Amino acid sequence: RTVYVNGDYLPEDQATVSIFDRGFLMADGVYEVVSVLDGKLLDFEGHLVRLKRSLKELAMDNPLSDEDFLAAFRALVDKNAITDGLVYLQVTRGNPGDRDFAYPAAGTRPTVVMFTQSKPGLADAPAAKTGWRVISIEDQRWARRDIKTVQLLYPSMAKMEAKARGADDAWMVEDGMVTEGTSNNAYIVKGGKIVTRALSNDILHGITRAAVLRFAAEAQMQVEERSFTIAEAQGADEAFITSASAFVMPVVEIDGAAVGTGQVGPVATRLREIYLEESRKAAV
Ligand code: PLP
Repeated sequence: RTVYVNGDYLPEDQATVSIFDRGFLMADGVYEVVSVLDGKLLDFEGHLVRLKRSLKELAMDNPLSDEDFLAAFRALVDKNAITDGLVYLQVTRGNPGDRDFAYPAAGTRPTVVMFTQSKPGLADAPAAKTGWRVISIEDQRWARRDIKTVQLLYPSMAKMEAKARGADDAWMVEDGMVTEGTSNNAYIVKGGKIVTRALSNDILHGITRAAVLRFAAEAQMQVEERSFTIAEAQGADEAFITSASAFVMPVVEIDGAAVGTGQVGPVATRLREIYLEESRKAAV
């Protein structure tokens, strides 16, 4: 693979960052993931807007212009001949030259890394036909989940717990209410109404979530933004998740209980179709 590091395109085994990089020492960094279908970037603009918000919330310098971000994404897609896949962008507060809790003095350049993952058939994942099984787990992450930081240890632990229990993912629960999946936003459908947790610092403001809720409204589907419990989700007609890499993915089982018929439902199926169709049309 050819990867991007601080303005250079290099073979992945020649790309390096400092051992004093704050991304490594402090998890002091943010990231984005953009999917690629037919060689084009989905929802690029939305991801860029969120990246800039994450940087701002952490008082981190924005290292590149919008045009340069897009040019680098496009260059990596081309250089790696990505038809379907993902582009990761990581920005850290950079290398202050030593370890220190305090942020480095102004002028320390952020570290910018980008890399691709090829995922042939990304939009045709067989799981979309069978659905995911999820477990519930206490949400033990920090309280600023609206910032897309590289601090992904708890989601990794939750994903490992899900795997150990034979499931595909975990839905995290705080004060009895579902926050979100390990790397996705969570939804239920009851009586035709789509329910998903309202935006706050408790969850990541999903770019796919924003698009899907817009498409749902355009298709005259009812949407309610409120919290729900695992018990309510188990008693729902359907459940699903959204993320840039899984698009809309049905959830058919929660903590061993079938959701609705236990089969992939019509609302999740339709939203997946609309999302893929509309975002392919708008891809850049
Ligand atoms: N929630 C969390 C915790 C995530 O990590 C992600 C994606 O990585 C999402 C939600 C979904 O966000 P998006 O649709 O922007 O990919």
